[in-house]
Amino acid sequence: MYHHLPKEITDLVGQFSRFPGIGEKTALRFVLFLLGKDENYINELAGQIENIKNLSLCQKCHNITTNGNFCKYCADPARDKKTVCVISNLPELMAIEATSDFLGLYHILGGKIDPLRGTGPEHLRINTLLARVKNDNIREIILAMNSDIPGENTILYLTRILKPLNIKISRLARGLPMGSELEYADPITLSSALEGRQEL
Ligand SMILES: [Zn+2]
Repeated sequence: MYHHLPKEITDLVGQFSRFPGIGEKTALRFVLFLLGKDENYINELAGQIENIKNLSLCQKCHNITTNGNFCKYCADPARDKKTVCVISNLPELMAIEATSDFLGLYHILGGKIDPLRGTGPEHLRINTLLARVKNDNIREIILAMNSDIPGENTILYLTRILKPLNIKISRLARGLPMGSELEYADPITLSSALEGRQEL
């Protein structure tokens, strides 16, 4: 569709249209926006994209870290290292941090079990969670999943494999609306769902 445009433009349209939720038309609008910007802006943007390479994933919880091995939560001596809240992605971690009520550590699974989308347990970071439970003296795992079908699948699966390890396993109280996204829950609702968590 854009083959008559210069390669500099079509290359970038190709890149932007790979972003989640971005089609070719929106991608072209991004490129036209950039064409209207001065050299300083372009250099700053290019530098910020380049800086992404400095980030890596925490070896324990898979959160993003800027300093190599461990993220700021895993490296913080004030956090309760015996309690781990399991979430599926970074926005959910941010939602729970926003409550200011959770002082334990996290574990980011990288998704939820969802056979309809081809996501099985083998695609999630479950082995590293099991290793933490076995090696790090963890006493409680909070499964902070919303109550949609993939969330329930994941809770069922994790409960089954964690139960034999003799730790407390809990899930959020059912205060969150059915099927609602955890990452969009307001801090007060999420805080009471954490507070009223139910043992499994
Ligand atoms: Zn971490």
